[in-house]
Parts: sequence; C-alpha cells; structure tokens
Amino acid sequence: MSSRRAFLHAWSRAAALCALAPLPLNRFGASASVAGGQIRVDRRGDFRESPFELGIASGDPSPDGAVLWTRLLGLPDPTASYAVRWEVAADESFRRIVLSGENAALPTLAHSVHVEARGLEPGRDYWYRFHAGGVSSPVGRTRTAPRTGADPPRLDFIFASCQHYERGWFTGFRHMAAESAEFVVHLGDYIYEEGPGQLRNQPRLHDGPKVRSLEDYRARYALYKRDPDLQAAHARFPWIFTPDDHEVDNDYANDQARAGESRDVFLRRRTAAYQALYEHLPFRAGALPVGPDMQLFRRLDFGSMLRLHVLDTRQYRTLQPCGGRRALPCDDRFAEGATILGARQRDWLERGLDGSTQRYNVLANQVFMAQLYEGEGEVTLPVDKWDGYPQDRRRLLEVLGERRPSNPIVITGDIHTNWVNDLKLDFDRPSSPTVGTELVGTSISSSGDGLDMSPQGVNAKSLNPHIKFFNAQRGYVRCALTPERLRADYRVMPYVTRPDAPISTRASFVIEDGVPGAQEA
Ligand code: FE
Ligand code: CA
Repeated sequence: MSSRRAFLHAWSRAAALCALAPLPLNRFGASASVAGGQIRVDRRGDFRESPFELGIASGDPSPDGAVLWTRLLGLPDPTASYAVRWEVAADESFRRIVLSGENAALPTLAHSVHVEARGLEPGRDYWYRFHAGGVSSPVGRTRTAPRTGADPPRLDFIFASCQHYERGWFTGFRHMAAESAEFVVHLGDYIYEEGPGQLRNQPRLHDGPKVRSLEDYRARYALYKRDPDLQAAHARFPWIFTPDDHEVDNDYANDQARAGESRDVFLRRRTAAYQALYEHLPFRAGALPVGPDMQLFRRLDFGSMLRLHVLDTRQYRTLQPCGGRRALPCDDRFAEGATILGARQRDWLERGLDGSTQRYNVLANQVFMAQLYEGEGEVTLPVDKWDGYPQDRRRLLEVLGERRPSNPIVITGDIHTNWVNDLKLDFDRPSSPTVGTELVGTSISSSGDGLDMSPQGVNAKSLNPHIKFFNAQRGYVRCALTPERLRADYRVMPYVTRPDAPISTRASFVIEDGVPGAQEA
C-alpha cells in the first residue's frame, strides 16, 4: 500500500470510528468538529425530501443491544457530514424512550450510520428511529438476544438468501415481515453485480452496467434497498448478515476473480465492494473493512438455546479446483493447502464448537456442504461449493462426529433451491454415520419463477442418498427451536415474476435433540 493510500485509509478508518461514537454535540449547538471537518446540524425544513429513502435496519443482536442502521440520501450538500439523532424506545409509540444519541453521517461512508446501542434488557423487543434535518425515519423493531444462560422455551428465526432484482419481486420479504421470529439470518447474494440482463420474464432491470467502482456498488445497493418489501423485512427483525459472492463478483475466490482480472485490479474492486457492503448493512464496528479485508466470521449466542457460528466461505478460500463450476471429480480437490475456510477461521470454528454450551449449534454457511453428484452419464461435482474442498469438509465432519458439539445444523444459501441433507462422515457410504444436518434454503427471487420438482432435483436425489428433500420454488425457511427439536418450515411461493404471490409451507422437517439428521414432520 502506498503511503498516501495508507494515510487515506487510516484517516477514513479514524473518521469511521468517530462516526460510531456519539458526537460531542449539545442538542442546540450549531456544529462540532469531527475528524477535522464540520458537522452540519440541520433543522426542520432543511431537507426538502426525506433522507431515509433506503429505510432503516438493525442487526447482530446481543443480550444488551443491537446495531441500528440507516443511510442518508439526497442531502443538500453531499460532501458535508450530517448529524443524525437516534432513539430507542421500549414501546412502539415512543412514550418510553430508553436510549438516544447523535452520530455523524460522513461522506466517506456514504452517510451511513451504524449505532451500537448498548445497555438494553435481554430477550425483549425495542423500537428505534432516526431524525435528520427535521425529518424522522420510519420506525423499526428490533429484539435483544436472551440473557447468557437463560433458557427460553422457544426461539424462532428465519433464514434467506439471493435476491436478484431482475429475476423477481421481493414478495418473499413482504411475507417474511408478517412472520413471528426473533431474527433473520441472510446468507448472501444481497445484490447482484451484473449489468442489465437479456432474459425473458424479467419484471425489472438493473439500472447500470456491471458494477466496478465504489460509486457503482453504492448505487446498486441503493437500487435494491429502495424496494419496500425488503425495507419491511429489515424494519421488522434484526438481521444477521453474511455475504456470498455476488456482493463482489460471481464465484470469486479470495483474491481471484473468475473473469481473469489481475489480482491488483480485483483486490481494488473487493475493497470497494466490502466498503459498500459495510455501508449498507447493520454491521458492528469490528466489521469495518481494512483495505480489501473485512472481518465477517463471528459468533452470536442466544441464551442456552443457540450458538450461531457465522461463516465466510469466500475471503479465505483457495481457487476452485478442477477448472471451476461443475467439474468431473479430479485430484486437484485434494491438493495440499486447499481450503474453503482458511486455517484461522477453521481453528476459530473448532474452538467455538468445542466451547459451546448451547443446545443447538447453527452454522450460517453460504455454499452447499453435502456431497452433490450431478449429471447423467458423466457425473460432476459443483466445485465452487464444499465439494471443491473435501479436506476441509472431512475435517469439519470429523470434528462433529468425534467431539460431538450439541446438535450441529448447517444452514445454507447460494443454490436457489430448497434441500434437506444428512451430513455423512463418508458420503459415498450410505451406512456411514450421520454427524449433522444441512438445511439449504432457496432464493427470494434469483433464478425467477421456480417449480416444485425439477429434473435436476430428481437426478440429484437418485445420485445422493443423503438428500431427503428437494424443491425449486422461491421463498425462505422458518425455524422454530425448542429444547426438544428444531422444526424447519420451507415457505414457498408459486411465482415471483408477477407481484403478490401467496406463500405456503411446502414441507416441514424436524431435527430431534441429540439425533443428527432430519425427518419429515
Ligand atoms: Fe445467488
Ligand atoms: Ca452465490
């Protein structure tokens, strides 16, 4: 890194950290200095339109708080910093405000605001809103995690992934917002980086070419985040988010793009992509990118019921083996050092599983973990998934089998279809022990209108006896945890290229406490 870039980087990081802390502003003061710049305190009437066009969000709940997010748009002076006031209330009508403060929205972070609210009570709902320039944001609801050691009788969450703007309406998010749950886990492909597509049956189009610069990525997030259904799902639940590939580039691996860009060019793009990602989701300060790096793997605990291990299977992986995508199985997969997690994350995950006292250990994972033979005649493996990294998979499954963390369950996105898989110590031997369970959730809209059963699914089920369920419709998965079992409801819609599709439960599976593998309910 050049010294100028290093300086700029250090500056923007310092400014960002300032923005995370409450401002030393008194409510009536004209301005305060932060990171050498002036903060504008705009009063009623200063903004002609609401700056909260992209909505609000909360995320990464802890027993004593959560992150509150918004981003100001359409400001009178886009190069200035603005003060944003925020409030957290114990009731929806804000009669009992329990926490409030003021943060700076800086142009270096696209006027995004990440408030780490602390000092709240565990295991309860709160409501939050922002004010800037005399305009108030919509109200969001968030919820703190249960107290450490608390034993709630039940914990509900929803997981989802893959919302391609062009391939369908985000109706799934509207239905999600009407569900009852404590939080949402999003497993990536929040945006897609491509230019406008040429497919038939696209209800809407990307508004620019393939994204490359920081401005491009910001504009793409803004396009997606204007969607009212997506905003409703953010306003209703705290989200725990981990990206997959399309937040940067399709099928990227660590510092390598699939499209043959040089490492330098790609890492500059990854830097821009991660910064825009940070700016648009409710991440904690620890996720603030440092150059092209972003700390995304992390753990969240929910009383004695659940430990959530959030994985990052893109940033540290070695290049996909065997030529990438769907490949004939080849020895490359077993190359020394081949990894999907990277050594540091693998050690962290194993420590987190060993140290867990929670009843359920859920791994929030991006790409398909179970073995997946596909094709007719020549049988291929999808090597962008864990099938490309069988040594890491084997090691993890051995840890599950030998050290027996309580109820290991992997939740997965990326593949735009619903699956339930037994995780086998040896997938080629159906009699080998089942050491965990994988629940794969379909897309919100990616791949367009789906269908219940596709030839791909019929074929995959016959080639892979550990697969118990397949469905290719759009939707999300709703999970209910009780001390006795996890129940997963696969919520699906018949179409997404037209608005207002109804939602229904296509299938439900249960994982009984202490028994790896799922059974249809
Ligand atoms: Fe996707
Ligand atoms: Ca993906």
